Amino acid sequence: MSDLKHNLDAVLQRIRVAAEAAGRDAQSVSLLAVSKTFPAEDVRAVHAAGQRAFGENYVQEATAKIAALADLRESLEWHFIGPLQSNKTRPVAEAFDWVHSVDRLKIAQRLSEQRPAHLPPLNVCLQVNVSGEASKAGVTPAEAAQIAHAIAALPRLRLRGLMSIPEPAETVEEQRVPHRQLRELYEQLRADGLALDTLSMGMSADLEAAVHEGATMVRVGSAIFGARDYSH
Ligand SMILES: *Cc1c(COP(=O)(O)O)cnc(C)c1O
Repeated sequence: MSDLKHNLDAVLQRIRVAAEAAGRDAQSVSLLAVSKTFPAEDVRAVHAAGQRAFGENYVQEATAKIAALADLRESLEWHFIGPLQSNKTRPVAEAFDWVHSVDRLKIAQRLSEQRPAHLPPLNVCLQVNVSGEASKAGVTPAEAAQIAHAIAALPRLRLRGLMSIPEPAETVEEQRVPHRQLRELYEQLRADGLALDTLSMGMSADLEAAVHEGATMVRVGSAIFGARDYSH
């Protein structure tokens, strides 16, 4: 078995174990394989091992990879999860299936305007800065409801849920706190009439904590592809 297939199977097993421990159906948690910095051939290998959803952070790198893997496009879902500047929205609206990192209404409006008519609506998540660090992208929990309702009204987007990237924490108990806060906000928005089905939270180091708190999609990079090298 290749290393990538071995790693993928190990991550799927971690999700199963965490879901079982939390009394959840493992099928209710999907895996987004985060392939940023890794070559198209690694994505091809992980796809061949059965994985279908891949996440990318950088527009140029992603569009090159999507083009290199055009032959797999029908069975491959691309999710944009990185910081998005308003002058970079068009290639994202044209090439991706999902955007998790919508952090202001202006970005959502541009994505909606630029989503090609022949494609289905773009799936989006609103990124929330749960722990409130100044350095992190995302709307505050207090402003989330108003922005979420405005995004949900845009014609070419489908608001699916919330996403967050909490500060790293050592213990599972500490990791669970921001995940719980995001889940509570998600439940409030659903009670408030928004048809959300996606809670995008948890990465290689904290996926168990996220699954315990209700994540429906975990975004896992290094545990599948290995350590990232940003030197080139
Ligand atoms: C890189 C990245 C991940 C994956 O992180 P790992 O720690 O490698 O699993 C998940 N989400 C976002 C938004 C990322 O940028």
